This record gives sequence, C-alpha cells and structure tokens, in this order.
Amino acid sequence: MNNSKGKTVSEKQSRTSAVCHALRPFGTSIFTEMTALAQRSGALNLSQGFPDFEGPIDIRRTAAEAILRGPNQYVSSIGIAPLRQAIADKMSRFYNVTVDPNTQVTVTAGATEALAATLLGLLNPGDEVILLEPCYDAYPPIIARAGARAVYVSMSVPDFDLDTSALARAFNARTKAIVINNPHNPSGKVFTERELAIIADLCASHNVVAIGDEVYEHILYDGRKHTTLLAVPGLEDRSIVISSTAKTFSTTGWKIGYGVASPDLSQAVRMSHQFLTFCTPGALQEAMAGAIGMADAYYEDLTASYTAKRQKLLSALDEMGLTVLWPKGTYYASIDINDLGFEDDLEMCRFLATQVGVAAVPASFFWKDRSNGKNLVRLCFCKTDDTIDAAIERLKRWKR
Ligand code: PMP
Ligand code: GLN
Repeated sequence: MNNSKGKTVSEKQSRTSAVCHALRPFGTSIFTEMTALAQRSGALNLSQGFPDFEGPIDIRRTAAEAILRGPNQYVSSIGIAPLRQAIADKMSRFYNVTVDPNTQVTVTAGATEALAATLLGLLNPGDEVILLEPCYDAYPPIIARAGARAVYVSMSVPDFDLDTSALARAFNARTKAIVINNPHNPSGKVFTERELAIIADLCASHNVVAIGDEVYEHILYDGRKHTTLLAVPGLEDRSIVISSTAKTFSTTGWKIGYGVASPDLSQAVRMSHQFLTFCTPGALQEAMAGAIGMADAYYEDLTASYTAKRQKLLSALDEMGLTVLWPKGTYYASIDINDLGFEDDLEMCRFLATQVGVAAVPASFFWKDRSNGKNLVRLCFCKTDDTIDAAIERLKRWKR
C-alpha cells in the first residue's frame, strides 16, 4: 500500500520501528531466514541445527502420559524437583561435580532463556562481556538490551585457537562476564585444558563470571570428553553452566534447558527467570528427568550415531574436493568456499538452497564484522542417513 509520499506502509513502519534501539541492529535470526529459504526452495535443510528424526519414544511417551494424567498447571519456577535432582546427579555422574539441586539448579525454557536470564540477571549498564568470535547469535542482543557492551576476541580460521594474549587484553575493570561456548557452534572447536585454565586465571584475577554454554556437551568425537566450566579449578564458584536437553535427546522443540551455578549466582539467574517465563512445561520436565538418567548406552549410542553421520557427510564432501573443517564436537561442519567462485557465503548459501537443493548457514553471521567469516558455509549433519545421502547426491551433481 502506498502513502502520500509514495512510500509503502512497511517502508514507513521500518523507519519508525517500534523495536527498541538496542535490538534494532540485529534483524531476523539467520536460522529463521535459512529455514524459510529451504522451505520455499524445497531444499534439504542442513541449515538450522535441528534433527529431522524424533527423540527416543520412551521420553515422548512419558511426556504424553503426563499431559493426559495432569495436572497441567504451573510448576515450581525453578523447575520440578525430580528434574533438578536428575541434573544434579548428571553433574556428579559425568563431571564429578557436586551441586545442590535446591539452590544451584534452575530449569529454563531452553538454553536460550537460560542465557537471557543469566545475562539479564547479572549485568548492569556499562558492564562489559567478553565474547569469543565466531559467536552464537543469542548473546549480543541480550547484552545490548541489558545496556552492557560486548567485547569480541577472535578465534581464527581454520583452527579457532584462542589468542590468549588478545584475551588477556580484553579483561579490564568493567568486565563482568565471559561466555564460553564449548563445544563451539559453529566451529566445532573443543577448548583445551590449557585454554580453560588460562580463562579461569583471568576470571579469578579480574573477578569475572564465566558463563558456559555447553549445549553440545554430549556430542564430541574421537574419544574426547567434555570438561564443564564447573570442574575447572578456580571456576567452581564463579561460573554459570548452561545446557539443554534439546541436542542430547533430539527434542529441540521442547525447550527444556537449565543453568547450574553457586547459590549466589543462581539467584541472579532465578531473579530474571521468574519474570521472563516463570516456569516451563511440567510434563516435558517430567519426561526429561527420566531421560537424563538413562544408562550410559544411550549416551554412547548418541556419540556413535553422530560419529557415523559426521563421517558420512564430511568424507563425501572431502571426496568432492571441498575444503572441510572437521569438527571436534557439535553436529556442524564448515566448508571453506574461498576457491569456489562465489562473492561470499550468503551468495553461496542462496545458490545452494535454490539451485542445488541443499540449505546451509552462511557462517559470517557468527561474526560482528561479517567480512571475517565470509569464506565459510556451515552444514549440519543432525539428519537421517537418507537425508544426508540425498544431500550428498545433490552436492555431487552440482560439483560435477
Ligand atoms: N547455544 C548454542 C551454542 C546453540 O547452538 C543453541 C541452539 N541449539 C542454543 C544455545 C539454544 O539452545 P535451546 O534450543 O535449548 O534454547
Ligand atoms: N542452535 C541452532 C543452530 O545453530 C539454531 C537454534 C535457533 O534457531 N535458535 O543452528
């Protein structure tokens, strides 16, 4: 519709946006954009990181039965007791970390809300938060909304080693927190013990909170084992570890996440969580309480399954002559598109979705300055073997 000055209503609205100043620079999430493009193009969706298969039937049955049985009302804001206990048991079972489920565990609407609750509960205007680039898209907008400032430290392609001197320079009297995403999306990096020890020293000497985004804690390759920030000497009382049941149990739509921290830091998470969502669905929490306690065989099968999927997709990409960055953890891999003749990663992703029939994520969206990541395209392999095979066929046809 045109108004008197010849501008469409939507153009006019975008100039006088209702969106607050802090969020205006951010736009629509690249995952929403690429999944929409995949749907419009009929492409196989290797962009947004969600499985195209269902999580374990027993978990879904428990949730369904709980919904039918009821009650279907609000539950405790901090999470139902059996789930908080299961999370505490898990911290002990996998990481030898003892936490009190009553004062140290808070259940949230996915890791996304746990991150928001943590940052909003912790930050004051003028505080600084160190982010390691490339970085997941959920951190910067919330930091901006809290009136704080994100300070970026780059990890360079293709190894994503942490430049510890640059990191040390980023810490100052205004630094309130640092976010460590480990295993790391999109690079697949797993932080070394040495890197974690250096981070711990810096946090201790500058009185900084370490926020661990550990949603891929159970998806590591080649025999690697996850180290949670809460197990790093010096970080026991100064870290907030955030995770989610989304990836581990292939139920990304359920949004059951949590934060684990000292009672004092948990108070900051809980204070904002109660006003963001108050609580998350009790039936789904009940199902996850059982899921987390499953036998070791479940976790071993998860690793084995993603190891096979990683091998299937990435060795095929290797054989096509593509330069593949093999991940050490997560279910993402990137290809270096430098020699492929595209202007940048976004152009290639548009081409892949519309002409090849395979959707991917332009990795530059994980950088503040997109020119730093414009040579990388991220593909996810949390898909059935049939989907992966079909994607390989389409990519091969294109490469020929
Ligand atoms: N952090 C990272 C690094 C992620 O990749 C994701 C997406 N799965 C999340 C947080 C959000 O997790 P959730 O779906 O539980 O909100
Ligand atoms: N974590 C998912 C990814 O990296 C996206 C989740 C989301 O869309 N918020 O692809």
